Amino acid sequence: MKKIIPLKEIPTDYNTSDKMEEECGVFAVYNKDNVENIANLAYCGLFALQHRGQESAGITLLNDGYIETIKGMGLVSEVFDQDQLSTKVGNAVIAHVRYSTTGSSTLANAQPLSARSILGDIALAHNGNLVNANRLRHQMELEGNVFQSSSDSEVILNMIARRSKMGIEEAVKDTCNVVSGGYAIVMLIARKLVAVRDPLGIRPLCIGKIHETGTYILASESCALDIAGAELIRDVNPGEMIVIDENGLHSSYYIQEKKRASCSFEYIYFARPDSILDGQDVYHVRGTAGRYLARQGKVDADVVIGVPDSGIVAAIGYSEESGIPYSMGLVRSKYMGRSFILPTQQLREQAVKLKLNPMRQVVSGKRIVLVDDSLVRGTTAKKLIKLMRDAGATEVHFRLASPMVKSECFFGVDISSKEELIASKMNIEQMCKEVGADSLDFLSIENQREILGGDGFCEGCFTGSYPINDVEPIVHEDHVQGMLDFE
Ligand code: SF4
Repeated sequence: MKKIIPLKEIPTDYNTSDKMEEECGVFAVYNKDNVENIANLAYCGLFALQHRGQESAGITLLNDGYIETIKGMGLVSEVFDQDQLSTKVGNAVIAHVRYSTTGSSTLANAQPLSARSILGDIALAHNGNLVNANRLRHQMELEGNVFQSSSDSEVILNMIARRSKMGIEEAVKDTCNVVSGGYAIVMLIARKLVAVRDPLGIRPLCIGKIHETGTYILASESCALDIAGAELIRDVNPGEMIVIDENGLHSSYYIQEKKRASCSFEYIYFARPDSILDGQDVYHVRGTAGRYLARQGKVDADVVIGVPDSGIVAAIGYSEESGIPYSMGLVRSKYMGRSFILPTQQLREQAVKLKLNPMRQVVSGKRIVLVDDSLVRGTTAKKLIKLMRDAGATEVHFRLASPMVKSECFFGVDISSKEELIASKMNIEQMCKEVGADSLDFLSIENQREILGGDGFCEGCFTGSYPINDVEPIVHEDHVQGMLDFE
């Protein structure tokens, strides 16, 4: 979900994060009868998707045709009172967690969003970015539409509401044929749960079922089905619309063309390793990336260390392939929030240690292979490698389990501006020197294709070649000064 600004006022300030950031997770439940503790089921689903967004969380409940929304700023555990959720009755919910840099932390942008239409109440939760939202919004404003939030999700909501006369399914399909971008959307409309995935399947969405109760679950990742006790049935296909109502689950398509460009970065970094996306096991993909990295070039080293959390599985794969033992050489603090404000420059320089601290007993006197998932700006890598040397590492060979990130993303992932991406302005030797490593290597794009199984994946941020060409400029939102500059 992106912030929309007037066409003439697109700023150029970008966030300072040193990781790409997912922008949302969605979760939904439907049963023809009331489901016991349905709001708490959504709470658990959101909890499993918390890594996809920590700014705000929301749950919209459908009870006898009426909707009720509870949402707020913060983590799932901060926004909801589980005792209060236990009192809620209903047969369907949609739920959402949102990522944001702190500059855009407003309740108005928290989801689900809702609106009244002749179809009744509509509630919507959205993961992804529209690449033509500014134009659509501008046009709708000229026609008299009023918007309450700065999000592109509200554009979708309004477009569906404006098409109400067509009936639910046609209103949604017609809207999907006008909007462009990467999106996975769950909606409650007129006692039905409706879900759509963008025509290229850029953003993920899967369907599960709790067989004992006949309850359907939709989620951004299958790890959220596990926590709900649901079995993964399948992924929603690109361009597919799912409608679940008292007659069961119905599938139809709003486009005929069968193309796929799923986000390859979901496998590298965003998704949890216990998720299965479009039939591929994320853990296996990451481990294989580590193996391929090891095959790309031999390194004489004593120990392989993974950068927690998303570098660990690739590091294990690297270790297995190379025969160099794996060891836990970095400890990650689990209890630090994302908006940790450090008051002085001295503390800010030490910030990386608050989150990742090297194990001197593992590192000292050793030649290490340090494996991370990706390199964005290079600022955190530089600090980490210095930490390793300060802890006694004699050599640091830095390996990245993804190709070089050279371009920004238009489809729902917050990356630094192209100018800030280290790989867009330096070659490997220069980057190696910049981050202070003894050697540096990235997974080749050819190897990534082989691991993922060929075509059918978006590689825009690696190659600069995007599956959709007509895109509006990205608006990167501000970070608070003094925040940790890495994820
Ligand atoms: S540009 Fe990169 S992050 Fe964005 S959808 Fe494509 S692969 Fe994913």
